[in-house]
Amino acid sequence: MAAVKCNKCGGIIPDGALFCPACGAPKTAEQPTPTPAQTTPPPAPAPQPVPRGGPGLIGIFDKIFSKAMLMLGISLSILLAWIGNIIATYANDSGGIKIGLVINSFGFALLGLSLIGGGIVNKTLDKNVRAGMVVGGAIMLGMSMVLSLSSVLSALADMSRYGF
Ligand SMILES: [Zn+2]
Repeated sequence: MAAVKCNKCGGIIPDGALFCPACGAPKTAEQPTPTPAQTTPPPAPAPQPVPRGGPGLIGIFDKIFSKAMLMLGISLSILLAWIGNIIATYANDSGGIKIGLVINSFGFALLGLSLIGGGIVNKTLDKNVRAGMVVGGAIMLGMSMVLSLSSVLSALADMSRYGF
């Protein structure tokens, strides 16, 4: 340790000495010049990327129609439409055909919903693609609702014909 200045009298305390030779103040009393109080606040945390959605219904909506869920919804809806189609094709009575048509139109309704929600939520997609998804989805949803409604009404008519 190099020679230090006495804190009390300002004299030089030689290297190795425990007391100031001028005033006798212990070297231990020597205080380092107090550093000015840390005034700079700790750096603000880096802004976190805004998580998808956030709280509330909008957050739930954003999660439901995120890209992964959208792919799942589209796959599931195509599967449903296809199953309904097969049931309707191979049904040997009108009841089976109607059940097949209801499942088929439910698949298209789900596809329409997936496209509408996916088009609204996925802001990284091209604007025109999103518009196409919403419009196409709305047409699909509307048509499938008409189709399933007519199938249900027709099934009800059958039931009343048979006296239910
Ligand atoms: Zn001194």
